[in-house]
Amino acid sequence: FACHAVGDDQSVSTERAHFVLVPLMAQGHTIPMTDMARLLAEHGAQVSFITTPVNACRMAGFISDVEAMGLKIQFVKLHFPATEFGLPEGCENVDMIQSRDLFKNFLDACAALQEPLAAYLREQRPPPSCIISDLSHWWTGDIARELGIPRLTFNGFCAFSSLARYIIVCDNLLEHVQDDNELVTFPGFPTPLELTKAQCPGSVSACRMEQIRKNINEEEMRCDWIMNSFQELESLYIMSFEQITGKKVWTVGPMCLCNQDSNTMAARGNKASMDEANCLRWLDSMKPGSVIFVSFGSLACTAPQQLVELGLGLEASEKPFIWVIKAGDKFPEVEAWLAEGFEERVKDRGMIIRGWAPQVMILWHHAVGGFMTHCGWNSTIEGICAGVPMITWPHFAEQFLNERLVVDVLKTGVEVGVKGVTQWGHEQKEITVTRDAVETAVSKLMDEGEAADEMRMRARDFGLKARRALEKGGSSYNNINLLIQEMGRRTNASG
Ligand code: UDP
Repeated sequence: FACHAVGDDQSVSTERAHFVLVPLMAQGHTIPMTDMARLLAEHGAQVSFITTPVNACRMAGFISDVEAMGLKIQFVKLHFPATEFGLPEGCENVDMIQSRDLFKNFLDACAALQEPLAAYLREQRPPPSCIISDLSHWWTGDIARELGIPRLTFNGFCAFSSLARYIIVCDNLLEHVQDDNELVTFPGFPTPLELTKAQCPGSVSACRMEQIRKNINEEEMRCDWIMNSFQELESLYIMSFEQITGKKVWTVGPMCLCNQDSNTMAARGNKASMDEANCLRWLDSMKPGSVIFVSFGSLACTAPQQLVELGLGLEASEKPFIWVIKAGDKFPEVEAWLAEGFEERVKDRGMIIRGWAPQVMILWHHAVGGFMTHCGWNSTIEGICAGVPMITWPHFAEQFLNERLVVDVLKTGVEVGVKGVTQWGHEQKEITVTRDAVETAVSKLMDEGEAADEMRMRARDFGLKARRALEKGGSSYNNINLLIQEMGRRTNASG
């Protein structure tokens, strides 16, 4: 495998560096961790990737890729105690939870992995150098302390949203705001920022979650941070985050860029629900930069009426599009509406993907010229890497913050104008974004004109900077090497 460290001293520490990666089992959290595992291993580290049987099956494409490349990644499958915690047998991923109320059960079942994981890690040679775990796995802090190694936290957000979230938590910003529509300002944030209470992460009081939230916040503040971002994208916010929290931030992204061949891209996260070759042929037949790609991630639940309205807006825009719909099985009425004429009317220029789409493969195709996204951070940074402007349609959590970053700071996107918040697990009933708003946003993004041209140029420029960050000598490339050296040195010192 490739070991990029130079010099004797560095290669010794690189060889000894053993990273333990513990993702939350949710696509938006696991996928970047698989990318992280690949990058660390490509840079010479050894990786133990902690997962469960059901999730390992989903990652079959990634696992066989890793084997074919001979990367030093060990997949550790721990039994997941779903039924012991009131979850159905085999419910091992957040996207399999039937009701939001069961999220606490899910996190409790995760916390029950503490002893089996600690037992496994005690036996490892070389011993682990550090644990990188999802923010929700606060209990990995105990394991790290027992083993005398650092825990680094990974929350999957960028520095902009992490900083805003930190201020919300530390200043107890939402406590005295009564009305969901009241505007909240962020003291200490380096640029002006305002959101309504409902748009802030943590605004929903999730049932029975107070203690877990407290544990998460306390443990997180003991750690240094890994971020899927890069210096050239948001240096001001990375610097402010470090200053305000006193914690080190390792920016090692955009991690999605480790997926360079089309097989790897297509197999990312899950098996695609359609024939990738067909999709590529369709894209090849379209003009460069002409297609708008519409996808709202793995968890967002858009109301059926809202989906119909979105479809009508796409139709009115008269632009070619690929639209990923996850709702098919949940909302038969959407399926019926698609079949009752919509698909026929747009068949020359519209492709609908039901289920899991090979998102990165599509986004990075030269025919794609715009991305309508729910602003999950992974999707956002994948769009940034693609160098395409975005239409922002946030639903919940930190997505409204990512929207502000894209629209106000990077100026590479336009908002569709979402008013209400569609909380995960709470489906919105009414239409908040009209077909006209969709049509207007699409034409603002895809049409000719100075404003659109400038936005496209800025997006392209960030795409180039993103690539440079992970190339040899780039900021994130160097950070990965430094991180491996630093962790390896600690192992040497203690081993
Ligand atoms: N994704 C995908 N195909 C899909 C839906 C999502 O490949 O049909 C991937 C997407 O590329 C991203 C991740 O799943 O890497 C979703 O993460 P994000 O943070 O964007 O949103 P979340 O699903 O957590 O809301």
